[in-house]
Amino acid sequence: MAEQQQQPKHKRTISRYLQQSHERIFENNRKWVESKTRSDPEFFAKLSAGQSPEYLYIGCADSRVPANEIMGLDAGEVFVHRNIANMVPNTDLNVMSVINYAVRHLHVKHIVVCGHYTCGGVKAAMTPADLGILNPWLRGIRDVYRLHEAELDAIPDEKAKYDRLIELNVVESCRNIIKTAAVQQSYQDNQYPIVHGWVFDLKDGLLKDLKIDFEAMLEGIKKIYNLASSPDRRASTTD
Ligand SMILES: [Zn+2]
Repeated sequence: MAEQQQQPKHKRTISRYLQQSHERIFENNRKWVESKTRSDPEFFAKLSAGQSPEYLYIGCADSRVPANEIMGLDAGEVFVHRNIANMVPNTDLNVMSVINYAVRHLHVKHIVVCGHYTCGGVKAAMTPADLGILNPWLRGIRDVYRLHEAELDAIPDEKAKYDRLIELNVVESCRNIIKTAAVQQSYQDNQYPIVHGWVFDLKDGLLKDLKIDFEAMLEGIKKIYNLASSPDRRASTTD
């Protein structure tokens, strides 16, 4: 206490604010537990019994896009992975492990990639600047631009071009999911999961379905990325 009093006033104010903003979460948590228990006394007993979500959601880490909330889903209903600009890099062990677990163990029926307009990650990738450790991550978005260069260059309006790159980045993330053995094999055996591409619009809160033709996309990648037809594939648990 004596030490705190010796601090300048502005430091004491910050320190008090930080303590309160941390404590607020625990207060919120207690209220949430009360409200859940009131509407369903078995809620936490069911949660602790295990999970069988129907959906895997891969979205941007942006704080304005809360996965469960925008889908109206409760705890236990969606398996969630988030990173900057909802990327699915082929060698990212994190997202690949999430997809593998969700498909092979949770048997999710739908995999959703959800981007959002005004995505800072996509904006940064369109900016010609050295962003340090973010460079290799954002390079994946620059690669999306390169793949769709003709279409994007033909859009004169910068805002429209930015929006379209956000959509195409979602499409390419979907394509990378479809390239995995887990998805190809599960779809061949079970007819699921289906991969969907969505974009969330912060202006009105609505989700836009990009209506990706999953079957056509799967057919399209098979020539080069087919991992579902080897005779001994059932022994395989790779990606
Ligand atoms: Zn974003």
